[in-house]
Amino acid sequence: MLSNITISRDLYSSDEHQMVRQALEDFIKKEALPHYEKWEKEGCMPKSFWQKFGEQGFLCMDIPEEYGGSGFDFSFSSMVLEEVRRLGIDFGVAVHSDIVAPYILNYGTEEQKQRFLPKMVSGEWIGCIGMSEPSAGSDLKSLKTVATDMGDHYLINGSKTFITNGYVADFVLCACRTNKGTDSEGISLIMIEKDREGFTTGQPFEKIGIKCQDTCELFFEDVKVPKENLLGDEGMGFRLMMNELPRERLGIAVEALGTAIGVVEKTLQYVTERRAFKKAIADFQNTQFKLADCAAEVQVYQSFLDRCVELQMEHKLTTEQASIAKFKATDMLDKVVDECLQLHGGYGYIWEYDVARAYAAARVTRIYGGTNEIMKLIISRGLFKEHYLAEKRKAAANGAALQN
Ligand SMILES: Cc1cc2nc3c(=O)[nH]c(=O)nc-3n(C[C@H](O)[C@H](O)[C@H](O)COP(=O)(O)OP(=O)(O)OC[C@H]3O[C@@H](n4cnc5c(N)ncnc54)[C@H](O)[C@@H]3O)c2cc1C
Repeated sequence: MLSNITISRDLYSSDEHQMVRQALEDFIKKEALPHYEKWEKEGCMPKSFWQKFGEQGFLCMDIPEEYGGSGFDFSFSSMVLEEVRRLGIDFGVAVHSDIVAPYILNYGTEEQKQRFLPKMVSGEWIGCIGMSEPSAGSDLKSLKTVATDMGDHYLINGSKTFITNGYVADFVLCACRTNKGTDSEGISLIMIEKDREGFTTGQPFEKIGIKCQDTCELFFEDVKVPKENLLGDEGMGFRLMMNELPRERLGIAVEALGTAIGVVEKTLQYVTERRAFKKAIADFQNTQFKLADCAAEVQVYQSFLDRCVELQMEHKLTTEQASIAKFKATDMLDKVVDECLQLHGGYGYIWEYDVARAYAAARVTRIYGGTNEIMKLIISRGLFKEHYLAEKRKAAANGAALQN
């Protein structure tokens, strides 16, 4: 259970939360950690693990009972994300449970919800989301994958890259262009099952970290997809993505917090065992100050992120707040994990040590889900919104005066 580096939290304090947290910890220690190195070499978690994870009720925790879920609130989902990372496991549960499933729940037809959600809850089907393309990452509006209207179906052509779970997934929620041009109105979201002819995947990329969380390319060549697989209205895809990105970004922030807690816990243990100059490393004031700093960082972010989780539960989390959470928590993680690695000395650089894995895992959190530079762009837009509106009004008034 959690050590004294976290402060007491109302958010996860109920008996039910405690029970789920303990069950999850026991499950991961028994079913994941003993096989973890092998899975890292294979580049993904096996489907059998996903299914066991689903059987235990840890997938899609806030999906309502009528779609096979347990109907918990979002705090259970966020607790799973934090705990999985605290225990040192990198797998794409956030993409599956906290990105793809909510899209289907929030915008799917009844038929789509019945078709996809129960299988996602059980782990029979794994989901991924395909937004990024070789020439469209930060600049999502320039994506080129095309869904051509063929009457009763679409014909999909194009490719996606960097797709988490892409290799193990059974379907992708794919952002496609349904009309020509580069405007956001032309983007639609379409669910494409893996077994459709013309849909292929690359091998998992060899990444510098999160090696169990597969990332790969997806290719579509004349893939025929029925219109019933369109999520929401045609041309609404970009708007739906903007609606859902705050939850995705909060998820990344919560995972960063979980990783930081885990790393500080393990470092506290390590420095009491490792000795130099006839003392435990823990007895040097430098060690104590560094870890005091790390624990302080964790507690400050924990309070802010717990509040963001509550806001998300009240449907009040803004795009700017989610961007602040993602940007600041991932920056915090980078700092904490770097200090903790240093306290491990040479062992910190050896892959079998959790702190080495966490160091590599931390780096990508500033890139995916929108880079931290894009987060700053979003935050600044919020700050200067009134200013730009006033400028626009002034320009319009000047234009009208000139015409008169
Ligand atoms: C491990 C991993 C998993 C991923 N999983 C998924 C997934 O499941 N689904 C998915 O769709 N995508 C996924 N991605 C893609 C990820 O979201 C993109 O890599 C990210 O959005 C950045 O896009 P890019 O790589 O094209 O970088 P670019 O957009 O080419 O950016 C390059 C650099 O330019 C900067 N930059 C770009 N525009 C601006 C600007 N306007 N102002 C200032 N700086 C700017 C960026 O911040 C960055 O530093 C994943 C990526 C990785 C590495």
